[in-house]
Amino acid sequence: MKKHNFYAGPSILPEFTKEKTAEAVVNFAGTGLSVMEVSHRSKEFVAVMDEAVALVKELLKVPEGYSVLFLQGGASLQFLMAPYNLMGAKAAYLNTGVWSKKAMKEAKFFGEVVEVASSGDANFNYVPKQFDTPADASYLHYTSNNTIFGTKVDAPEVNIPLIADMSSDIFSRPVDVAKHDLIYAGAQKNLGPSGATLVIVKDEALGKVDRPIPTMLDYRIHIQNESMFNTPSTLPVFACLQTLRWLKEQGGVEAIEKVNIEKAALLYDEIDRNKLFQATAVKEDRSLMNVTFVMTPEFVELEKEFNDFAVSRGMIGLKGHRSVGGFRASIYNAMPVDSVQALVDTMQEFEKMH
Ligand code: PMP
Repeated sequence: MKKHNFYAGPSILPEFTKEKTAEAVVNFAGTGLSVMEVSHRSKEFVAVMDEAVALVKELLKVPEGYSVLFLQGGASLQFLMAPYNLMGAKAAYLNTGVWSKKAMKEAKFFGEVVEVASSGDANFNYVPKQFDTPADASYLHYTSNNTIFGTKVDAPEVNIPLIADMSSDIFSRPVDVAKHDLIYAGAQKNLGPSGATLVIVKDEALGKVDRPIPTMLDYRIHIQNESMFNTPSTLPVFACLQTLRWLKEQGGVEAIEKVNIEKAALLYDEIDRNKLFQATAVKEDRSLMNVTFVMTPEFVELEKEFNDFAVSRGMIGLKGHRSVGGFRASIYNAMPVDSVQALVDTMQEFEKMH
């Protein structure tokens, strides 16, 4: 039976990425060695890193004056690396859910954290739009896609630099990189396997803080060493490169955004139509990547039955995060429209049974 992978992350990757990576695990670039066995300083691997960086710049239209890095430690390490390198006495944070809160927690080790707004009053089912941002804050941090709560956040219009955690929607829609001092994303959604973390940082934003920065946590060290200050995660970076090549082949970020809008509409339309289900996020803030929904109150006792039914139809990873309940269908770039259609068909069939 065909499997439909709705996991939130690690999550579905393009067939192309898996096939090319599988080949390179056995024989990388004609070396007769596995990509896991060659030096990160070999000319073959340096070429992988260089092309990956170049494709990130091309696909996201990264302006001059920014560096692209592949680091380790996940987005969670960026929660502290960002303030370590960029926060003066004060930083502003928009709180749209669990991941924003975790970022704030780390920033508090470095100075005053101002929560400009929070949607915690409604279990993060919307995105606050009206808020004041202190002019003396070093930056405003936001989470561009809330993986758990299924909301998306557009870059806020403010007069201070932005930092964005784009872990769960990077490469799914265009980004105005120039508005940001820093963008970071764990690879394991739209890019590759876990183990690599993408960082895009504005060079001139660095070197302004007074505190000493340990070597491994200093972006400048990683820039100087082109992501090879220490051994990079070679296999994940290789896989990321394959996804970037695939994305370019699809027509890039602008083209995939159109597909993403179509896929999300297909599913949200069904959730809105079907008497058994309702969406959890308010309409205007709905994520294109993580579609969160629950049973309507009168059918709430059918939750487990629907999950079992979906599993019997090959749907994997639909169970919602415990802080929202219900279901979450993660429909990242690599998710084919056929899989979204299969979920819609399953929901319609289940409705007929009740
Ligand atoms: N931010 C967001 C938006 C996420 O979805 C996640 C992981 N699901 C993280 C941060 C944490 O990422 P990591 O596990 O790579 O540290």
